[in-house]
Amino acid sequence: MIKVLVADITRLRVDAVVNAANSSLLGGGGVDGAIHRAAGPELLKACRALHGCATGEAKITPAFNLPAHWVIHTVGPVWHNGTEGEPRLLENCYRNSLELALENGAQSIAFPAISTGIYGYPKAQAVAIACALMGEYMARFKSITACCFSEGDASLYRRELGGGI
Ligand code: ADP
Repeated sequence: MIKVLVADITRLRVDAVVNAANSSLLGGGGVDGAIHRAAGPELLKACRALHGCATGEAKITPAFNLPAHWVIHTVGPVWHNGTEGEPRLLENCYRNSLELALENGAQSIAFPAISTGIYGYPKAQAVAIACALMGEYMARFKSITACCFSEGDASLYRRELGGGI
């Protein structure tokens, strides 16, 4: 099942929440800062041991004080007018996160709108990629949630996914 929610991702009780991290994995602004604040300092310690993450790749840690079980950290592409392979890199973020979730036995996963904040990826284009990958993996999870930070973002997902959501 694919769900579209307007929520703070740090509050979701799912097996895995995805963090739109930066390549240092040492915390930042936006959703990354919110996840680190809510999970507590143990998360930063766990991330230090991972020695960073390349754009499009994903790494997993426990979720510590979050209601979720795992945090999957993925590094979205910075938008440079689409000339630097951004669509493929963003697709890799979703695919690698979903595969890592499956490898760890997660049955429910929630994504923020990766790269659409500080990294400047045009929202409609990012949402189209997110929905394509969520659709491809839908049958292998109990739920995949698009966790939106605004009603406007949620309507982009609902439009992309079609009626009934
Ligand atoms: P990026 O650097 O990948 O662009 P950002 O954190 O700046 O990452 O933004 C990614 C998306 O996450 C944006 O749509 C932003 O509105 C959203 N966001 C920010 N904080 C939260 C949160 N606590 N829960 C869910 N989504 C959030």
